[in-house]
Amino acid sequence: MTLSLGNNPYNRMSWEDADFPILCQTCLGDNPYLRMMKEKYGSECNICQRPFTVFRWCPGKGMRYKSTIVCQTCSKMKNVCQTCLLDLEYGLPVQVRDNVLGQKHDIPKSLVNREYYTQNMEVAMTEAGGSVSGLDLLGMTQSQNDQLRKLRRHEPYYKRNAPHICSFYLKGECKRGEECPYRHEKPSDPDDPLSSQNIRDRYYGNNDPVADKLMKKLSRLPKLEPPEDPNITTLYVGNVMEAITDKDLRDFFYQYGEIRNLKLVHKQHCAFVEYTTRQAAELAADQSFNKVTLHGIRLNVRWAKPQSKQKEGGTGDPREKLPFVPGLPGALPLPEKLLLQPPMEIPPVHLGLGAPPMGPPPVYYPSQDPTRLGSGKHGSQY
Ligand SMILES: [Zn+2]
Ligand SMILES: [Zn+2]
Ligand SMILES: [Zn+2]
Repeated sequence: MTLSLGNNPYNRMSWEDADFPILCQTCLGDNPYLRMMKEKYGSECNICQRPFTVFRWCPGKGMRYKSTIVCQTCSKMKNVCQTCLLDLEYGLPVQVRDNVLGQKHDIPKSLVNREYYTQNMEVAMTEAGGSVSGLDLLGMTQSQNDQLRKLRRHEPYYKRNAPHICSFYLKGECKRGEECPYRHEKPSDPDDPLSSQNIRDRYYGNNDPVADKLMKKLSRLPKLEPPEDPNITTLYVGNVMEAITDKDLRDFFYQYGEIRNLKLVHKQHCAFVEYTTRQAAELAADQSFNKVTLHGIRLNVRWAKPQSKQKEGGTGDPREKLPFVPGLPGALPLPEKLLLQPPMEIPPVHLGLGAPPMGPPPVYYPSQDPTRLGSGKHGSQY
């Protein structure tokens, strides 16, 4: 298809003539003797509608011919493959990538504004030697990068280049048999992002069924659940070896927000980072869980347990002011106090009862234990 000059409203200067398409590994295929067919201004870009140079090639034996469907400027603006519109770096749908990065690129959708925007982007790209995209990948955090890596395929997915399924076969009407260039099989690959999706939605990252599926997968990946009690703003950091100093920790954790208190307990190889806001603590927990390495030592970040959970002891021992350390025994009661007034068994802690976040843990004695009133049974709860 060649467009006549007369019926296109655009300035011909901004038409694109490229030497090679911008493709992902999957679309390019594994054929080393690839013959790329090029048609100058062969079609109009499915996004910006300007004529662009279309490429057509066969990505491998038994595969279907593929062609580029958006222009290079549109491809660069979103950092996507010109053919499948998946992200070039991660092979993920735009919606997933932008969701994880928390970015939304508002490319104007009205004709004139989009043309203006596209031309400006082109100028910026040319000035920067073609390396600028509309996407701020430099601002990506390690955590976002990790999330995207977990979702992406690690190998090119050549099955995506296979011929389309024969629609006659599905209806039981294909008479071409072996000769039929289309696939004779039941649709079985719900992962195929090219199956049923509108090109613009895929490009702009809207209503993408594949993205929804991947986002669900992401939400099932292990992560730290913030504690119900909103007053908890302290994180426990484990595996803090001697090489890691108070300053290292402070420097690292300060990036998420203001730190009210940082306590390093080298003896127990742990530290407690208390933020002034819950928001900062949640951000830090989310971004540092399973990912922090200082001086080559991988730190183990968790939410600190609320103080009310430290039921062992309860004798006024100063050590018990430390937040609970997972996996370590709690502070032992001082022997003489133990003899004087042994604390009785403590009822199980009920979550969500609004126990005070700080301060000494409650000590229950038989006379004041609210859960034991009238029960008369000792230890039956255990
Ligand atoms: Zn375009
Ligand atoms: Zn592709
Ligand atoms: Zn057929």
